[in-house]
Amino acid sequence: MVSYGKVTNEVVKKLHDVVGPEFVSTDREDLYIYSFDMTEEQPKDPEAIVMPENPKDVQGILKIANEYKIPVTPYVSAANIGGLTIPLHGGIVVDLKRMNRVIKADEKNKYVIVEPGVTFGRLKAYLDKNHPDYMYSYAFSPPHTSVMANALLEGLTEYSYRYGCMGEFIVGLEVVLPTGEITRIGNCALMKHDNWNQKYPLPDMSSLFIGWQGMTGIVTKISVKLIARPPILEKRMLIFFNRQDMCKMLPDLARTELIQGDFTFSFETVLMMLGAKHPIRELKESDPESVTGIYFFAYSEKEKKAKEKVLQKMCTENSTNAKRPITMVPLELGGDKYKDILDLPRPLPNFMEFRSGIKTDPDQIGAGMSWLGTFCPISSLQLGYEKGYDIMKKHGFAPLIFSKLMDSGHFIVMRYLIPFQKPKDNQAVRELLEELVDFAIDEVGAIPYKCPAWAAKKVLKRLDPNWVALARRIRGTLDPNKIMNPGRWNL
Ligand SMILES: Cc1cc2nc3c(=O)[nH]c(=O)nc-3n(C[C@H](O)[C@H](O)[C@H](O)COP(=O)(O)OP(=O)(O)OC[C@H]3O[C@@H](n4cnc5c(N)ncnc54)[C@H](O)[C@@H]3O)c2cc1C
Repeated sequence: MVSYGKVTNEVVKKLHDVVGPEFVSTDREDLYIYSFDMTEEQPKDPEAIVMPENPKDVQGILKIANEYKIPVTPYVSAANIGGLTIPLHGGIVVDLKRMNRVIKADEKNKYVIVEPGVTFGRLKAYLDKNHPDYMYSYAFSPPHTSVMANALLEGLTEYSYRYGCMGEFIVGLEVVLPTGEITRIGNCALMKHDNWNQKYPLPDMSSLFIGWQGMTGIVTKISVKLIARPPILEKRMLIFFNRQDMCKMLPDLARTELIQGDFTFSFETVLMMLGAKHPIRELKESDPESVTGIYFFAYSEKEKKAKEKVLQKMCTENSTNAKRPITMVPLELGGDKYKDILDLPRPLPNFMEFRSGIKTDPDQIGAGMSWLGTFCPISSLQLGYEKGYDIMKKHGFAPLIFSKLMDSGHFIVMRYLIPFQKPKDNQAVRELLEELVDFAIDEVGAIPYKCPAWAAKKVLKRLDPNWVALARRIRGTLDPNKIMNPGRWNL
């Protein structure tokens, strides 16, 4: 058991010297704001909030924290939905919002370098204005959330079918290690040239920082891949009137390279996104069971038509009921409500409002949002979807399910969404999550991502013990005093 130091007056004074007193707070009101997130996870107050402006500030903070053995939690928007910024052992929360510069976009070499506080909204506005022929791959996460945190957390976005999870987009990093050294990862380490376009052929050390939930250092810059905007970017909806058709067609689609991205929603999720409130009505005979949004690129009208024709053929071939076939339509055909649904990033107030009760129930203190997200084999799509659906209903929650083909179908992400009322539903949410996590690991063969500490315990129990020992050794080498986001991944 590690024994941590406290944020004493002496420590606060040293932090003042690094960032200036106006960017250090120990006020109770401020600590409260950083003590929780939108999930059901137990809140915990930090002892101080510090807001650095540049890598040197971050270095100063980490040197102090390391000297006094004080826990440090990196933080941008706390929208990870895993409780990952709740400071389990108190200490210092390092809020990185002031580091919000887009450092450089290089069109020829197809990358952009951003600081931690650059949000999806900011990056999109920057690229649209300055580099309109290039784009990034955006998530359903709200526009105020961090591009870097999303990539470091192996997030999933519009074009994940084609490119895989967002860790794959990272081609260069600058990191402040827990002991205070600043280092670069990738060919940007060739300092003279300042090229941030690739991380190979050096041994790939980016994986020391990707997926670690802020436990191995504070990343101060990342370079991420840009995508050249195609002349034609088409969006379509595939409407499935039964789940079996969807579970048959998506793996088929994954065998092709026809699309760039997809999002599949249970129809209950579509109703929620369009504004339906809890409880979601039972589906009617005439309702679809799920809807898939797809993106595909084309470089000529001829190519677009050819792709449409193949997609249409796949719809026909995978339809088991000729009277209710899989139907492919342009998004606009669904009406005004649907037409912008895949234009990301976008705020998603309906997610939060769905079950919040705050408008009608004065005892509710807030809208909650939780989920289980899993990386799983595509062969378990049907099991993950159908049993997950039943488990959610059994626990009295709407079966809000979202899935996505990843990396040309090498795997899928299956996500069970749980908007809830805080604090009334906290216990019920945890019970549902427990059952979903056990089901996902033991039956589906899935590993949860953005994994809260309690779920990480379940994962670690089932992992190869030598994997766990290696992970602990790596972490101990980088962070001998275990100051970085302690408790995460249960390592
Ligand atoms: C409605 C909704 C929809 C969402 N949809 C998606 C989606 O489609 N795809 C998806 O992938 N995610 C999604 N998310 C999750 C989340 O929004 C993103 O992953 C997001 O980009 C995280 O950004 P953040 O600013 O909230 O990070 P935070 O929660 O502040 O940080 C996340 C983690 O990264 C660590 N961290 C932050 N910055 C650094 C740093 N510089 N160095 C080291 N560690 C750091 C933190 O300690 C923490 O562990 C969604 C969230 C919501 C609320």
